Amino acid sequence: MLPNGVATPGAHEATSRDARGVSRSEADSVLALVAHELRTPLTVLLGQAQLLQRRLAGRADTLSGDQKTADVLVEQTHRLRALIDTLLDVTQFEHGQLRVIPMPLDFGALVRRIVEELQPALHFHTLRLYMEPGQFWVAGDALRLEQVLQNLLQNAVKYSPPDGIITVQMAPYGDQVRVAVSDNGIGIAASVRPLLFQRFTRADPIEGRPVAGLGLGLYLCKALMDLHGGSIQVESVEEMGSTFILLLPKLVRG
Ligand code: ADP
Repeated sequence: MLPNGVATPGAHEATSRDARGVSRSEADSVLALVAHELRTPLTVLLGQAQLLQRRLAGRADTLSGDQKTADVLVEQTHRLRALIDTLLDVTQFEHGQLRVIPMPLDFGALVRRIVEELQPALHFHTLRLYMEPGQFWVAGDALRLEQVLQNLLQNAVKYSPPDGIITVQMAPYGDQVRVAVSDNGIGIAASVRPLLFQRFTRADPIEGRPVAGLGLGLYLCKALMDLHGGSIQVESVEEMGSTFILLLPKLVRG
């Protein structure tokens, strides 16, 4: 069965075909189908790995090597599922089928929860939250806005030194709500910045040390902010750090 929102091959206008006569939209549909089919066994695998991890953690006689193996299993399965979710989101977006379900949302509470949950998981980085008093109601899809923030926070961690400082600032901004995620990391070259929200944009590795990634996260962040009627911008100075700014219209409650 085809997943929700995935069109059958040929349902979209074929713009260009490769040497085998496969159009881009056909290739996208197959990719979406494969990604969807991979998701189910991966979810089962993740559940079982987490069960094993908890069981081992609860036993006094567990060897530390076994516990480590279970931890790696859970972590890597999480990563694989996140990659597949990204591919699914991108193909849906490119077929005009990525949806957000906006509801009245206390964006401040969401940001606070995300920061509080991430803080203990960061072993080296410092994460700080500065929030102006008040409420930050928006019309937002909580899951999708969390996806945007998680992406920005993960990037801040990935592209800053282990003792880096990450700050999240939240404040009203006219009739909008503004959230800024800053790091004091490697920064982004001026030549890359205009392309940053396009798919597959990745800056050159620093000192030949590549960082894992697909170059699709920011592309999706922009897509999701646009679907909310909001925006995302970047300010950065090379070797000093970067700030990603999210703006969302305030919810006017009548
Ligand atoms: P990924 O991190 O998977 O490559 P993204 O779309 O999230 O994909 O980011 C695209 C590129 O933008 C990254 O490869 C990196 O070069 C650059 N980038 C994103 N966030 C930061 C950041 N906080 N600091 C420095 N560079 C960044």
